Amino acid sequence: MDLVLFGPPGAGKGTQAKRLTELLKVPQISTGDLMRAERGKGSAIGKKFDEYMSKGLLVPDELVLELLAQRLAEPDAKSGAIFDGYPRTVPQAKALDELLAKVGRKVDVVVSLEVKLEEMIERIVLRRSCEACGQIYHLRYNPPPSPDRCTCGGKLVQRPDDTEEVVRKRNEEYLSKTAPLLNYYGPKGLVRPVDGVGSLDEVTARVKAAASDGG
Ligand SMILES: [Zn+2]
Repeated sequence: MDLVLFGPPGAGKGTQAKRLTELLKVPQISTGDLMRAERGKGSAIGKKFDEYMSKGLLVPDELVLELLAQRLAEPDAKSGAIFDGYPRTVPQAKALDELLAKVGRKVDVVVSLEVKLEEMIERIVLRRSCEACGQIYHLRYNPPPSPDRCTCGGKLVQRPDDTEEVVRKRNEEYLSKTAPLLNYYGPKGLVRPVDGVGSLDEVTARVKAAASDGG
């Protein structure tokens, strides 16, 4: 099964993607992670990425596709993949379709995690992390022993980006970027909106149901 996963920042998309890899027995393919890995290895393609990324330039689509083709050819990805963070644009979605078609595959389902803006604000604005051990808390859902102290004794801080203003801005950006993609996949009957509010297990069960509906 080839599944594309969308979700606004803070919706737990990465966590759900990881859980899906276990349920569906296919790897998670995140082009961002792959690019970083190739750069780290200093491979031929990694060096090409480096030329762009070190200058803060966008990596051309052709290069990302080359990397995806390479990844999809690995044994663990022969029967499918979960695409996380790709495609981001309609041309990329079309290119992915072409790439999959070459190996007799197609995008089977597009899962769109949905979390209301107000919910997302509450999730993110009440998040605290420990300066000492990195433990993450939520003042309401996963409260620390005291609002500014971790169990390890470390000081709890709010990350500078965890503000309502930043969440609103990111959400708007996400919606405006994702709308064209949902319009692209929608008429193909592939989009399954999934309610992203609930416990991790509840959301995973919904995503899994949506995925089997598509495959
Ligand atoms: Zn701590």
